[in-house]
Amino acid sequence: MFEKVGNERWTGRQVYRWLEQTGFRTKNGKLLSLGNLYLLLRNTYYYGEFEYPVGSGEWYQGAHEPIITKELFDRVQESIRDHFIPKTESKEFAFTRLIKCGLCGSGISAEEKFKMLKNGGTNRHVYYRCTRVRDLDCPCQAINEETLIDELMGLIDVIDVDEIGMRGKIAEEITRYNRFRTGVLGAKKHEKVSDVDVRAYAKYLLKEGTVTEKRDLLSCLKSKLVLKDRKIIIEKTD
Ligand SMILES: [Zn+2]
Repeated sequence: MFEKVGNERWTGRQVYRWLEQTGFRTKNGKLLSLGNLYLLLRNTYYYGEFEYPVGSGEWYQGAHEPIITKELFDRVQESIRDHFIPKTESKEFAFTRLIKCGLCGSGISAEEKFKMLKNGGTNRHVYYRCTRVRDLDCPCQAINEETLIDELMGLIDVIDVDEIGMRGKIAEEITRYNRFRTGVLGAKKHEKVSDVDVRAYAKYLLKEGTVTEKRDLLSCLKSKLVLKDRKIIIEKTD
């Protein structure tokens, strides 16, 4: 069930219908309600952690064997949020939810500001900042989207290419492009895709890609990204 929401990006409702069709029933022989299904999908207990008392911010590692990974759990939460958040919002901001605050660990949210120009037009600026969910007084400073992208481009230059989880997909794209150049444009045959190509393409996606492409790229990075002192830093996970 978690797999379906997390990997196949099913909505809660789709899983609900699917469960119904499989004939799944609760201990009491009843259908699981949609509300309870969401509660279940959001329950951290399944990957091994629980908060006690609820809402206290005190987390404990359970002694039981987790049935899902934290990674899958996180993907499920993202999928639930994506399906709940109005489409306009999730479309406009490429980098929310993929970066955490490096000071307090809260999520990062985006807001847009419009500046009036002398000629009557407007300029749109997007800022990313700590949501301060974990620390109301978090001093984390906001960063504008251009600076954020520059920071990410800088990271692409220095991280191990294998860290770019999309390497396979990117290499495929480049090979396709090279085939087009040699086949259609008659350009000189290009050897195999190098690390330099992969980095360049990742940077191209960050600058010119669609919001979805940017999100895909970042969500495939193997390390966690944190915002600290207006800089994006890689936080190693094991
Ligand atoms: Zn913070």
